[in-house]
Amino acid sequence: MELKESICYALNRFAEVAGLQEFKWSHVWFLFSTIAVVFIVELIAVKWQKSALRKIIQFDKSARNDLFYWLTEIGNIFNLIAFVLTFGIAYFLVGIIQNAVHFELGLFITIPILQFIVIYLISDLNAYFNHWVFHRIRPLWKLHEFHHSATSFTILTRYRGHFVEMSLKRFIDVLPFVIVGAPIQTYFGVKILKEIHGLMVHSNITSGWGFVGRYLIVSPAAHRIHHSINPKHYGKNFGNTFIIWDRIFGTYLESETSIEIGVPNNPYNKKDVVTDVFIGIKRFFRGIFFADK
Ligand SMILES: [Zn+2]
Ligand SMILES: [Zn+2]
Repeated sequence: MELKESICYALNRFAEVAGLQEFKWSHVWFLFSTIAVVFIVELIAVKWQKSALRKIIQFDKSARNDLFYWLTEIGNIFNLIAFVLTFGIAYFLVGIIQNAVHFELGLFITIPILQFIVIYLISDLNAYFNHWVFHRIRPLWKLHEFHHSATSFTILTRYRGHFVEMSLKRFIDVLPFVIVGAPIQTYFGVKILKEIHGLMVHSNITSGWGFVGRYLIVSPAAHRIHHSINPKHYGKNFGNTFIIWDRIFGTYLESETSIEIGVPNNPYNKKDVVTDVFIGIKRFFRGIFFADK
């Protein structure tokens, strides 16, 4: 039964990602409107010279990568490329997990607001753990390194994630939902806020957000430290929405001003965007087979 359902799931996913699903303008509108809000806020906060818009117009190779990944999202082809590059394996296995395990513990919480808070917190803790794993396991870091290879923030940097990384992340992402049940994505208001927040922390605003940034929400300054090229900042501030997990697990680092971002010996942003996709895959496999690579 499970196998049959899994095959159905994989085929359905394929149909979906192969572009057979209807093209949703609401999704494009969502991506454009959230990014417009953050572009305007950033422009007011940091002025033109330091703005993401200026960096995008200058169109250096780091900004070009960011733009490419944002366009694949807008054009609804990110998943299709991810599916093809991983031969659909991640999608198929996630289907098996979803069909085999489904606890729906969240349904035991009957007060809607409480259920919402619990699911949100578990999902955010999962994102923290997911992010931590992609830094600590060598081949996975080789993929995630691509997100960190941005040499400046263009706001669009939020979308800069290797196709294979995003496919593999499905395994970890699916866990809280098979355990807790109800998908948090259904809460549209939170989706907008999460999106704006995710874009904001990849902007050129460097604010630490005071008390809120120190104890509650990941601030732009905190995420900038996460992207720092300076080795003394490595392995810090993994949080997605909440900084509390970094506080609890001892990975929090207080913000500093003027931090250079990127990775040492950066292999990316040299040729074209397609070359960078394959550099990521090559480094992933070298990470698996060669301990020192
Ligand atoms: Zn990271
Ligand atoms: Zn980031």
